[in-house]
Amino acid sequence: MPSLTELLDRAAGGGRLSFDEGLRLYDDADLHDLGAAAHARRMAMHPPDVVTYVIDTTINYTNVCNVHCSFCAFFRPEHHREGYTMSHDRVLERVKYAADQGATQIMIQGGVNPELRIEWFETLFERVGREYPQVDIHSLSVSEIVGLAHVEALPTREVLARLKAAGMKSLPGAGAEILVERVRKRISARKVKPHEWLGVMREAQLLGMPTTATMMFGSIETAAERIEHLDVLRQLQDETGGFTAFIPWYYVPYKTPLRGKEATGLEYLRVLAISRLYLDNFAHLQASWLTPGLKMGQLALFYGCDDMGGTIIEEQVVHDAGSTNEATRRDLEEIIIKAGYRPVVRDTYWNLRSNMPLATAG
Ligand code: SF4
Repeated sequence: MPSLTELLDRAAGGGRLSFDEGLRLYDDADLHDLGAAAHARRMAMHPPDVVTYVIDTTINYTNVCNVHCSFCAFFRPEHHREGYTMSHDRVLERVKYAADQGATQIMIQGGVNPELRIEWFETLFERVGREYPQVDIHSLSVSEIVGLAHVEALPTREVLARLKAAGMKSLPGAGAEILVERVRKRISARKVKPHEWLGVMREAQLLGMPTTATMMFGSIETAAERIEHLDVLRQLQDETGGFTAFIPWYYVPYKTPLRGKEATGLEYLRVLAISRLYLDNFAHLQASWLTPGLKMGQLALFYGCDDMGGTIIEEQVVHDAGSTNEATRRDLEEIIIKAGYRPVVRDTYWNLRSNMPLATAG
């Protein structure tokens, strides 16, 4: 059996870890050794002096949802007095606000609202594309796609194809949580099953839409289930190569029906490091600073991350669960610079936007 050092050396050099080896490293490796191996891998994969970020906004267009996940403080059931759905004009106002600040990516995401038909999204995306051609629509989630497929009695592939034709360029990896049936039954029994999540992602990727993958950890899953999540993502990536990035973030328990304790900073860093090493076929690992905060986001740049995510100008879902972290472009750039890197703006496809001046320049 290889030693932990041999496993770390192999993974740092881009070699593949088996499930058992990944779990061994996750459970037993010293955190600093794990981080050093992940950092070495990141340095070999990307320009060592650069950390990227995207100027984006999240517009939570509706909080009405028929899925009722126990870890979610954002949703309201149908006909609840606090339920809302934004008008197209309201969404467009928010897109304008973000575009005026240089946003190149818009994430329009919300609950699974059965009142909304596919034409509602097609019309909205066409308007965004017409009025703000400089922004990429990186929007919805697998849950919303499956919800629309039910409402319209259409295959999910056709829903994706119609939305793509209307201007949706890319599908975010939201709603993956932990792609293990036991966990989903406990925390989101009405949500799409692991094979459905992977199936819709595969369809989007085969339609030529870039996608990301996420992991929400820290609810009820075991360490082995975290590695299992990484493993099913790695398998799909082997098949399609359609994921641009992996974004692990931890569950914020404060205002949700599913109680629990927030993951610690050390746990967050351990998950990042094992993700960088295990997902040998993913190009990018993103620091999700929204739940752990900017200071942990800065540390993440030494545990395998090469990207700081986005400015997330108006996010509501994680905010409602008790997270109060926010960041401007200047905030993101300052923590990148103070970590010893050069911030570079990118777009949804990871094209570097060297024509966009930095907020900290001058
Ligand atoms: S996490 Fe998403 S799908 Fe689940 S209840 Fe909240 S809004 Fe609905």
